[in-house]
Amino acid sequence: MDFEKAKKLIDDADCILVTAGNKFAIADGFDMLDEASFKVQYPDLVEKYDVHTIGDALDKKLPSWPEQWTMWRRFIDDYSVNYQPSDAMLELKQLLTGKDYFIATSYFTHAFENAGFDSKKIFNIFGDWTTMACSSGVNHGLKSDLAIQGVPKCEICNSEMEIHMPLTAHFYPDTDANTRMRIFITNNEDKKMVVLGLGVDELSPQLLDPILHLVSQFENWHYISADLDSSDLPQNIVKRSIGTGSNSKSLLEGLIN
Ligand SMILES: [Zn+2]
Repeated sequence: MDFEKAKKLIDDADCILVTAGNKFAIADGFDMLDEASFKVQYPDLVEKYDVHTIGDALDKKLPSWPEQWTMWRRFIDDYSVNYQPSDAMLELKQLLTGKDYFIATSYFTHAFENAGFDSKKIFNIFGDWTTMACSSGVNHGLKSDLAIQGVPKCEICNSEMEIHMPLTAHFYPDTDANTRMRIFITNNEDKKMVVLGLGVDELSPQLLDPILHLVSQFENWHYISADLDSSDLPQNIVKRSIGTGSNSKSLLEGLIN
């Protein structure tokens, strides 16, 4: 695959909006649906709770809060506290150095923040398990859970806290981050923007449909998709788009080298 055209678009861009979906998380070493490694890493959880992947385990309501937090704590320690960025993540960092950027992602392990991206330029659309929210169903704010022990309680209503993810009906997206993303978009409507889709395909509609709509609205915007082919992209933006039909890893490698 020839990435020269994509490379030039990025070189010429004033700003870059990265959308990173689940396949980017997989390229970075986090596959929430991987049964084989789950079985090796967490045999006791398989045995005790009949859960077979991280996704499965997150969906399962455990019998008690201490058990719940013990399990969450292990995942957070293994994937967030002990996180090591992949080559793809490091290449993305290199690519965005010196650029005005924003990242919208469904990858919820705090990986971008841990890799050294500016936390004010990240919107974790499905939350981030290193932050926690009140389980009462009322929005009592977000707190880091990295330093907590046992079962943390809400400072306002004393309910148990839970990881900030859409596991229940009362998930509140991070409104501050959402606002920052809107401001980034508004400020750059007329600029030469490149939207870079990494690990985003029809399985990540939240990161695809609204974004393609934005690109169609602003004529100086371009869309580069790692995963989709040009033929998968809507007709009205096809002239301003590149669908490399490969994957994040190959695209980032190609853009850097
Ligand atoms: Zn509360």
